[in-house]
Amino acid sequence: MVILLILSKLIDTKIMGFDLTNEESLLFIISAPSGVGKTTIRKILTSQIKDFRYSISYTTRLPRADEVDGQDYYFISKEIFQGKIGKDFFLEWAKVHENFYGTSKDFIKAALEEKKNIFLDVDVQGACSLKKKLPGAIFIFLIPPSWEALEERLRNRKTDTVQEIKHRLITAKKEVRCCYEYDYLIVNNKLEETIAKFKAIILAEQCRPSKVKYSLQGIW
Ligand code: 5GP
Repeated sequence: MVILLILSKLIDTKIMGFDLTNEESLLFIISAPSGVGKTTIRKILTSQIKDFRYSISYTTRLPRADEVDGQDYYFISKEIFQGKIGKDFFLEWAKVHENFYGTSKDFIKAALEEKKNIFLDVDVQGACSLKKKLPGAIFIFLIPPSWEALEERLRNRKTDTVQEIKHRLITAKKEVRCCYEYDYLIVNNKLEETIAKFKAIILAEQCRPSKVKYSLQGIW
């Protein structure tokens, strides 16, 4: 009975996701309400830390003025997105603010095969579904220092209408309630401090025995 349970769990992970517990790679899932500053942080981290890959999501949202297709997102139509759902292309996908967002299964597989570390940016629905599919992944939630600060950042971004900002703030308040489900919580007050905290987490996670590239051969 126990063997059957273990087998079914293994098959489950294999079909639905990837078990990272004994993988060399680290996989970080980062969630934050829209406007907290995830993109800036991600760009700094990927430029400063080697061997990190950022999983570029697919979305049906239109690109913002400063966004580049294939760098920030793969911008696709709803029809193409639905087709990809049908082909089981996504490791997870969710509807956020009236648009669809999804993570490519093949990208994660390839990065793990190349022993790269990975950053994923997903909303709380995506993070919840990945908790089951990616045992051993590290979940980080980024929060704004205050609601006023978040509202100001959304306004200053000048990419969303007043209605969209209102909608994003309502979603943000719902999302923040899930922060205790994550392994780490970072308040993005000062950018340098946030980057230092991310780097400290990465360093600590790299020191877990399963991640240290060290052979005990010849020691005992
Ligand atoms: P934005 O439109 O502001 O770039 O992103 C809106 C929300 O979608 C953010 O909370 C972001 O984390 C989330 N998101 C981005 N890519 C993905 C994805 O692949 N899957 C899921 N579930 N959410 C995503």
